[in-house]
Amino acid sequence: MESKISSTIEDYLGIIYILERDGEAVQGVRLAELLGVSAPTVTNTLKRMTRDGLLEMGTGGPRLTLTGLDQARTVMRRHMLAEWMLVRMLSWSKLHGEAHSMEHAISQEVEASLLLELQGKQTCPHGNPIPGHEEAVKDWVALTTLAAGAHVIIRRVHELAEDTRGVLAFLEERGIAPGVAASLLENQPVNGTVTLDVAGQPVTLGYPLARYVYGEVVG
Ligand SMILES: [Zn+2]
Ligand SMILES: [Zn+2]
Repeated sequence: MESKISSTIEDYLGIIYILERDGEAVQGVRLAELLGVSAPTVTNTLKRMTRDGLLEMGTGGPRLTLTGLDQARTVMRRHMLAEWMLVRMLSWSKLHGEAHSMEHAISQEVEASLLLELQGKQTCPHGNPIPGHEEAVKDWVALTTLAAGAHVIIRRVHELAEDTRGVLAFLEERGIAPGVAASLLENQPVNGTVTLDVAGQPVTLGYPLARYVYGEVVG
């Protein structure tokens, strides 16, 4: 029998999992910003999750317990499988939002069938690693780290950018998607911008977004 946790808690688990995986601090204010809720709401929810054995309070803030980690990985995996399930019907920028509503309803049985059908997939359609496949993305670098003249294949748009309203549609409209070739025309730290050549068109991204877009360097 699967224990059923609420979709709110699943959202918290997903975000905390991503922050921990990336070695980022899990802070109340950051969670409030990412989840679009107030700080007191976050505090109360974290207390509830601690009581339920999903989190433990360490010196550096809340941390997932083994149970919490296990649940979080399940949530992330189901989200990514739901994105693949929708990939034939929706444009690339709409997958995340729709999968987000579906992920909470996916049962163990559907998950197992999807895993069978999608055997070999190591990332979601946006290039983020399915839990357990983190090594698949380790050689891809953020666009902000590249110098002018670098040639890349776009591989990944980070989960936290997926989650920011409008970002995927913005990138899609400018032709930036996993698998697309691009070259770096300029990296301007003073201005905080990166300019790419995508299919002959210049596309400028600010650092807050460019640091969440990763490429595989090909020359
Ligand atoms: Zn997503
Ligand atoms: Zn995705």
